[in-house]
Amino acid sequence: MARRYFIAPDQLTAAEPQITGEDAHHLRSVLRVRPGTLISVFDGTGRDYRAKVTAVHREGITVSLIEQIPARRESLLSITVAQGFLKDNKMDTLVRQLTELGITRWAPFLAQRSVALPAAKRLESRHRRWVKITCEAVKQCGRSRFMQIDPAVTFSRAVAAAPPAALKLLFWEDVAGAMPLEELRVIRPQEVFLMIGPEGGFEPGEVEAAVASGFKLVSMGPRILRAETAAVVAGAMVQFVFGDLNQKILDNSRVV
Ligand code: SAH
Repeated sequence: MARRYFIAPDQLTAAEPQITGEDAHHLRSVLRVRPGTLISVFDGTGRDYRAKVTAVHREGITVSLIEQIPARRESLLSITVAQGFLKDNKMDTLVRQLTELGITRWAPFLAQRSVALPAAKRLESRHRRWVKITCEAVKQCGRSRFMQIDPAVTFSRAVAAAPPAALKLLFWEDVAGAMPLEELRVIRPQEVFLMIGPEGGFEPGEVEAAVASGFKLVSMGPRILRAETAAVVAGAMVQFVFGDLNQKILDNSRVV
């Protein structure tokens, strides 16, 4: 699909909407666009437009919006992946992969067996990097919305943050204690909130607390997946069983 450029949401209503930053640089210095060139822009909140370049400045590219294009590649099922905080750069890779899977929201939390959280300053710069990664992934996969990235919270706050109307799932590797996702297919939820543990998994007390607040324990089969594999597989399974990965379960009226 054609390359799309990011335009900040507040620019869409400006008299002379501007594309700035790296995208403007790419348009100006790599593509050498001229006034009159037609391009596609998106604002990361679900709006895509066809636009015409009207001026090329040092500070940015000015465009005029021609028409809104329907966002066809957004997930209609709202999925939150609550992720036990992982070491090193594993979280960066997850942001990209989960964005590609159409995940709506990503909520890192600190489990009892999580590694210590990075210092506040580093967390802030990580957050900025994640926003950049989701932006790049959105461009690549054709989505119109960034994956929302929440600040890291404690395990109990993550559990409490699950919307009451959502189907709440905790992925647990205990073969005897967790059920296959397939058994929940009949529920047809509008919203799914799923939890994945950190490298060391969940403490039994955490599993109990989640069950007490309405979580169902679900399995991804007999093998223990690494946490970073588990998050992607869980996202894909939920999107397959309840969402749009298996297009056949969507009727046409639900495709926007
Ligand atoms: N406690 C384990 C591994 C944890 S794996 C150990 O150290 O041996 C990290 C996370 O991935 C788990 O908390 C769980 O959420 C998820 N996970 C991995 N394999 C899984 C499986 N087969 N079924 C369900 N969840 C799984």
